[in-house]
Amino acid sequence: MKALTDRHDPARPEWTCTATEHPWPCTVARTALLAQFANDRRGLILHLGARLADAIDDFAAQTHGDVPPGLTDRFMGWVPELPEEPAEREGACASLRGPRKSIRAGDRAEAAALQKF
Ligand SMILES: [Zn+2]
Repeated sequence: MKALTDRHDPARPEWTCTATEHPWPCTVARTALLAQFANDRRGLILHLGARLADAIDDFAAQTHGDVPPGLTDRFMGWVPELPEEPAEREGACASLRGPRKSIRAGDRAEAAALQKF
């Protein structure tokens, strides 16, 4: 048995918590990550995505390619969704509304202009 620590870090390659031996991220680790990334939710998603990729590599290496089911939900599914930002709602997306309608109407010129994006 491994010595437990006070830190709720992932023990690799098993991806269990170093403090509780529960599947990482445990409840305490999730709470700590939410606090650490409180003002950077996208950073949290990127961080967890990188950890998920590491975990997939570790599990696949241990099992000759098999990865436990539900791994994505375990690593990412608990993160609250981002609230819609006003700039996305009224600014950046507004410029796309017109061309989208034009594509539906078959306007090839506007569709070609959209492809530049
Ligand atoms: Zn823990």
